[in-house]
Amino acid sequence: MDAKRRILENHSVAIRDGSIVEIGETTALEERHSGAEVLDASGRIVMPGIVCSHSHLYGMLLRGASLNITPPSDFTQILQRVWWPVDEAMSFEDAYASALVACVEFAKSGVTLFADTYSGPNSIAGVLDHVARAVSEVGIRGLVAFEATERHSKDEGFSGVQENVRFAETAKASHDSKVKPLFSIHASFTVSDELIKEVRKLATKYNIPVTIHVAEGLGDVHHNLEHYGKRPVERLNDVGLLGPDVVLAHCVNLSNDEIDIIARTGAGVAHNPMSNMLNAVGVAPVLRMLNRNINIGLGNDGYVFDMFENMRAAFLLHRVHHKDPNAINPYTILEMATIPEAPNILAK
Ligand SMILES: [Zn+2]
Repeated sequence: MDAKRRILENHSVAIRDGSIVEIGETTALEERHSGAEVLDASGRIVMPGIVCSHSHLYGMLLRGASLNITPPSDFTQILQRVWWPVDEAMSFEDAYASALVACVEFAKSGVTLFADTYSGPNSIAGVLDHVARAVSEVGIRGLVAFEATERHSKDEGFSGVQENVRFAETAKASHDSKVKPLFSIHASFTVSDELIKEVRKLATKYNIPVTIHVAEGLGDVHHNLEHYGKRPVERLNDVGLLGPDVVLAHCVNLSNDEIDIIARTGAGVAHNPMSNMLNAVGVAPVLRMLNRNINIGLGNDGYVFDMFENMRAAFLLHRVHHKDPNAINPYTILEMATIPEAPNILAK
C-alpha cells in the first residue's frame, strides 16, 4: 500500500520497540539484525493495518440475540424495534464488555484503527472512559464518540455533546495516544440545526473530527425534505457542518447535487456495504463518488467485525449492482480499508 502499490516477495520487516525500522530483502535484513527474534510469516501477507471508518462497538451485543419482535418492514422500524431498545438498555458495564469483545475481534482480523459511535440514553456521562479502557486493554487505536441525538429531548442531545467534550478534555490530559475523541451526531432526522451548529463550533474549537449518519434510509431524506425543504446533505451544508474533518456514514440515497457538495467540501464518506444489505436500504453510489475523488473509507456499522468480510462484500456488491464484472478494482477496496484518504489512485 505504498504510493506504487508494490508487492514485495521474500522481504521482511524489522521492528524495534513496537515501530517498523526497516523493510528489505529477508537475507539482508537477517544479516543486519542478527540475534533478533524472528516471527516466521512464510506463506502469509504482511500489510498495513486495516481502518474501520464507521463502527458501533456495542453492536457486538446484537450477535446471536433472539429478537422477539414484530419483524420491521423498513429501516426506520429497524431503528425503532432493534437498535433503539438496545440503546435504552445499555449500561456502563455493557459498554465496556461489548467494546472489549469488539476490539479483540478487530485485532484478530487486522484492524488497527476504527471510529466508534456509542449510543445509550441511560448511560451518558462518563461512558466513553469505559469504552476507552477496553480499547486500551486490547492495544489497538480508536476514535470514540457518544452519539448525540434529540430523539427524546433537547437535553438528551446536549448531554451527548457534553460527554464528547468531557472525553476530549480527559484525552488531552491523558498519556494514552491510542484512544482519541470524535464528535458524533446520530442523523439529521433526529437533531435540530441548533445542535448541529453547536457540534460544529466545538469540533473546530477542539480540532476533533465529526461523524454523522447520512441518507442511510429514505426516512432521513423524506424528513429533511418535509421539514426543511432540502435533502440531508444540502441541509448539513447550509448549517455549515461539512468540511474535510467530517465523515458521512452510509450516503446511500444521494442526489448528484449532494455528491457535488460532498466533493466540494472535502467531507469523507464511510461505506458500510454489509450493513446496507442487512438493513435493505440500498446501494451507496460509490462509483459516482469515486469519480468525484471523494474519500471513501470502509465501515462495519457494528455488524460483522471481520473487515475482510466487509471488503469482500464491497467488492461483490458493486459488481452485481452495476451488472459489471469490472465495476470496481479490488485494490480500490483495499485502499478504502487501509488508506481511505487516497482510495481511487488505482481506479483510474
Ligand atoms: Zn452507524
